[in-house]
Amino acid sequence: MRALTLIADRKLELVETAPPPPPAAGEVQVRIKAVALNHLDLWGFRGMAFAKRKLPLVVGVEAAGEIAAVGADVSDFKAGDAVVMYGALTCGVCRACREGRDNLCEDVGGIMGFHIDGFARDLLNLPARLVIPVPRGVAMRDAACAPIAFSTVQHMLFDNARLEPGETVLVHAGGSGIGSTAIKMAKAVGATVITTVGDDAKAEKAKAIGADHVINYRKERFETITRKLTNKKGVDVVFEHVGGEGFNGSLLVLKRGGRLVTCGSTAGPTVTLNLMQLFQQQYRIIGSFGASMRNIRESLDKMAGGLLPVIDTEVPLADFERGLVRIESRQVFGKIVVLF
Ligand SMILES: [Zn+2]
Repeated sequence: MRALTLIADRKLELVETAPPPPPAAGEVQVRIKAVALNHLDLWGFRGMAFAKRKLPLVVGVEAAGEIAAVGADVSDFKAGDAVVMYGALTCGVCRACREGRDNLCEDVGGIMGFHIDGFARDLLNLPARLVIPVPRGVAMRDAACAPIAFSTVQHMLFDNARLEPGETVLVHAGGSGIGSTAIKMAKAVGATVITTVGDDAKAEKAKAIGADHVINYRKERFETITRKLTNKKGVDVVFEHVGGEGFNGSLLVLKRGGRLVTCGSTAGPTVTLNLMQLFQQQYRIIGSFGASMRNIRESLDKMAGGLLPVIDTEVPLADFERGLVRIESRQVFGKIVVLF
């Protein structure tokens, strides 16, 4: 079978390997059909000095597939079922896991495709408890965007920022995989969406997927326009995943008592914070990473209801790297999906 393997920083190799043994008790064997790309793949591809991992490593952090075989004691799945997989090897027994806060697992075995072998291979075995059925009618390429992109946004907007109908949200980088998802999810609950993009072509696309106001941050300061659009009141929620220089601007456009939820920090992880502003304005800044199994089910339900990911490009497995380059060069609008 095929496995796309990172053998050194920025060096991928498609290798032939032996298929896995039949699944053990409590395990299922999944035949991968689609892998969706994330910024996390790019980080892994470039190499991160602090990431504890050993190369070679099978890449691919989120995917969908179908059950190829089930082990003893597995009754929830049968061969042919469409499924997605949780993206981290949680322990399943710690308090956080038992309470359904999977992304706070106290003994996580690593993120698949980043710390440990991931999903960009034809077949893999994994514990059935980490597998979630895909509702009928949801395509593989869409389902592949549920375990990380959709569920991360679901967790950020609704569990963490508690976005309500009628509120206004600023979504940074609306053309990215999670940005485009955030626009659609926020609109679907009746929020007003302001978003930022880096060029005019993306502005059109952002409007087409539901953004009420689009700011080209290369031409205009998002702080100025956002304050103008909200009659200087500011927004209720900022969906932040860029970090860097824009972070303080995001606090400036937040209403008193507003919530800023952040992940990713793709433009830089270090910022200066004015604590006086933080407490006087009673801001809530919430860090968010990953999602729970429940968030993945909620995401798939949204897809079944017609809220689908924005797909930028579909590429074959051999072009995985081309997809990463497209994310790195910020040409992308929506998700890139690798089809098997
Ligand atoms: Zn755990």
